[in-house]
Amino acid sequence: MTSYKLLLLPGDGIGPEVMAEVEKVIGALDALGLARFEIERDLVGGSAIDAHGKPLTDEALARADAADAILLGAVGGPKWADVAYEIRPEAGLLRLRKDLGLFANLRPAICYPALADASALKRELVEGLDIMIVRELTGGVYFGEPKEITTLPDGSKRAVDTQVYTTAEIERIAHVAFDLARKRSGRVASAEKHNVMKSGVLWKEVVTKVHADYSDVTLEHVLADNCAMQLVRRPKQYDVLVTDNLFGDVLSDVAAMLTGSLGMLPSASLGAVDAKGSRKALYEPVHGSAPDIAGKGYANPIAMIGSLAMCLRYSFGLGEAADLLDSAVTRTLASGARTRDIVAEGTTPISTSEMGDAIIRELKHAA
Ligand code: NAD
Repeated sequence: MTSYKLLLLPGDGIGPEVMAEVEKVIGALDALGLARFEIERDLVGGSAIDAHGKPLTDEALARADAADAILLGAVGGPKWADVAYEIRPEAGLLRLRKDLGLFANLRPAICYPALADASALKRELVEGLDIMIVRELTGGVYFGEPKEITTLPDGSKRAVDTQVYTTAEIERIAHVAFDLARKRSGRVASAEKHNVMKSGVLWKEVVTKVHADYSDVTLEHVLADNCAMQLVRRPKQYDVLVTDNLFGDVLSDVAAMLTGSLGMLPSASLGAVDAKGSRKALYEPVHGSAPDIAGKGYANPIAMIGSLAMCLRYSFGLGEAADLLDSAVTRTLASGARTRDIVAEGTTPISTSEMGDAIIRELKHAA
């Protein structure tokens, strides 16, 4: 069986706690003969600042570059609030994304039936929800130049951010979305604002052109503001939703809240496919380091474990193992197991490690 090189970067706060549960799941996958890994570990974020004076060492970056995939916990926390801007914990994560060229951010929003009542929306609107948001991650208004605040002759100020996209940037993210749709229900919605933005005009034009290679996938264009409204009105109409960096930031947070808790949401950041057919990839929970609950055993490990499932599916082509892990999570939730963030009033939550154990029990049962 192929052995995959996996770099674990637990990070800060609850990162190491949820990563410990992933390590247990990795052990179980190995014992069940479902997947084999060579594991390496390193530091990122505040823990790397404490040890090395910077949030990501060149050695850690080289390890990340050599790995088949990276799993990251979370970075940051009040302990490092006063370090210089260039070496703040988040800079380690941004460097990883930038240096590895991770341009495609995949954020699934799945509403488990057992948790439909934890959503801000009515159960019938979200039960069974399964959307994949594909957000362009390395271009657009967060990176475009000029980006500055200048002082005008009258002493007032002027701030500029630049929304810029090239054909190549839009093409590669569109391919990611259409390829994903082929493995799902064959539907892509593309969100932009071509009615008021030139970048939206180009986005729509390029996505439409790329679509010509995917006659088996349907494409719908939607204005980003209408899309935000549709996400809370009738979210199940969407399957794969592709959009730029800024709209993706906002729309994926809206979609996240449809599902209940931040502790449930995994994500993937993918690079370009190379000549050998492989791609750089980093998998991490959507949540942060949750300093308010760190060290207490309260953290929900499902987002982190779901990130491992995405890694199995998208980096290693181990769809069967990923399905088994995802359904172990679904059954664990159906059995009533809940960490504090998702527990119903009046019932008793279980700990991070008990949730990990419960998922592994279900995994072993199904395998
Ligand atoms: P957060 O996601 O860490 O926490 C928000 C709230 O959700 C908290 O109440 C927290 O207890 C809860 N929560 C988060 N994950 C949970 C889990 N797995 N189980 C149970 N409850 C969970 O966001 P924040 O408080 O805004 O940020 C805290 C730190 O994390 C900051 O330093 C921030 O910069 C950093 N951060 C890092 C990342 C990342 O590493 N990718 C992402 C977001 C925030």
